[in-house]
Amino acid sequence: AKARGRNQHVFFDRKMNEEAERKAIIEQELLQAITENQLAMHFQPVIDLHRNRITHAEALIRWNHPEKGLIMPDDFIPIAEESGLIIPLGGWVIDAVYNQLAEWRGQLNEPLQICLNVSPIQIVHTNLEHQLQAAIDRSEPTDGNVIIEITENVMIEGPERIKEKLDTMKQLGMSFLIDDFGTGFSSMRFLKKMPFDGLKIDRGFVSHVDSDNDKAVLVKAMIEMAHNLNLKVIAEGVERQEELEFLRFHDCDYVQGYLFGRPVSAHEFLELLRKQ
Ligand code: C2E
Ligand code: CA
Ligand code: CA
Ligand code: CA
Repeated sequence: AKARGRNQHVFFDRKMNEEAERKAIIEQELLQAITENQLAMHFQPVIDLHRNRITHAEALIRWNHPEKGLIMPDDFIPIAEESGLIIPLGGWVIDAVYNQLAEWRGQLNEPLQICLNVSPIQIVHTNLEHQLQAAIDRSEPTDGNVIIEITENVMIEGPERIKEKLDTMKQLGMSFLIDDFGTGFSSMRFLKKMPFDGLKIDRGFVSHVDSDNDKAVLVKAMIEMAHNLNLKVIAEGVERQEELEFLRFHDCDYVQGYLFGRPVSAHEFLELLRKQ
């Protein structure tokens, strides 16, 4: 038994080393990805339910690895956050989004809001307001705007400090959405004080909301609370017609999900806008 215990130890150690090695490789390659142009932004439509039109796009990062092919953000964003690489990576995303708005100048029939995911680390450890100001000055967006999406977990860093940062950015004309609402840490008290413009109800609540009574109760309460706090509501991960009907009936403002469109390249997204 002793021998087996020891073997198991060796086994787990090896597993842990493999995991650490995998992360180290991704870190190394991610650095290359930034400098060697392997990253791209995709765009997923967000539909305004009052107007039945695409008014927003969520920008989602993709990594086209030269050997491994397409790598999705859930497989590298957490590693980038752990290693600090999220700071240069996040900077790249900001520039890419503003460059895209500049590239689309004069090609859009109506203004487009681009929703940009920002890691709490970027809010706390970088001068985001300077980065944004520099990107705005460089690209001078005229046909659209950028909205920042942050998860509730940002509040762990001390709500007062976060509020100060967000207020400063608000003065630059930025808007903010709470991402993955309902899954993380948030205090109702601070929700009210923070300069948020809306919240995104996490896909976990939206999926089968039409038939799951617990979810239905929660989603209705979230929409009502949001509206009472003067926040817009975006439902994420809408995949089925029944979910859409539930959300429409309960006065949700915006929807996003595979039912309306998956994230697509900038080129395909522009086509989508032209067809509406
Ligand atoms: P998120 O911000 O919650 O983004 C929504 C995710 O849900 C996206 O996954 C999107 O493709 C997926 N999704 C949208 N509609 C549906 C649907 O109807 N059904 C299902 N099953 N999924 C749907 P994606 O693109 O893989 O991104 C995963 C996460 O990676 C994002 O979650 C976000 O947390 C992070 N991420 C993506 N791009 C960036 C970025 O540029 N910066 C940062 N910091 N994080 C990013
Ligand atoms: Ca998001
Ligand atoms: Ca989300
Ligand atoms: Ca998420």
